Amino acid sequence: MILDNYILYLAFVTTKLEKFFENQSPYIRCKKGCSKCCEDGCYPFSKAEFDFLIIGFLKLPAEIQKKVKANIYKLKAEQTEHKNKFPDKDFMHKCPFLIDNECCVYDYRGIICRSFGLISINDKGASKIPFCAFEGLNYANVLEPETKIISLEKYKKLNIDKEPLAFNVSYDFLTSKDMEQQFNITFGEKRALIDWF
Ligand code: SF4
Repeated sequence: MILDNYILYLAFVTTKLEKFFENQSPYIRCKKGCSKCCEDGCYPFSKAEFDFLIIGFLKLPAEIQKKVKANIYKLKAEQTEHKNKFPDKDFMHKCPFLIDNECCVYDYRGIICRSFGLISINDKGASKIPFCAFEGLNYANVLEPETKIISLEKYKKLNIDKEPLAFNVSYDFLTSKDMEQQFNITFGEKRALIDWF
């Protein structure tokens, strides 16, 4: 069954990510109540991830569903306005599932939601520091803000054995054809979350 396969895939990815986050714990500031990564983004979601998210949404109490729907209606209007003004610019916004600073569909959230916060490296070797580093959060203790790189000097001064590392946790890799084959799943079309509504 496809849903069972997707759940197995999620368990695999989640275990992998937990290990990476644990390894990088001296640099990670993610904690309950911090929702920085859900406040300003466009959140890529494949069809499979979106379908799973909706399973979570349908389990929510009616009053929370109502709040999410109100957020979506408001965002759709803002998106139309944004497209008219800035046709070539991504529509960055707060996620409609963020209610009272918490994800209301946490167990059903997407891959980008699970992997954000680490330094990722893609197949071409390009690394990406999470934007929250520039706001004093993850990796801020080893970041050189001017050059936007991880500082070896700062790392040495911290005198900790775990070095800051980049992992192959790019969205493209975690939702790649290889993953589809390994778990016998299909991600399907990928869109910004708001474009699924
Ligand atoms: S689905 Fe949840 S974790 Fe993902 S961006 Fe929205 S609020 Fe954040």
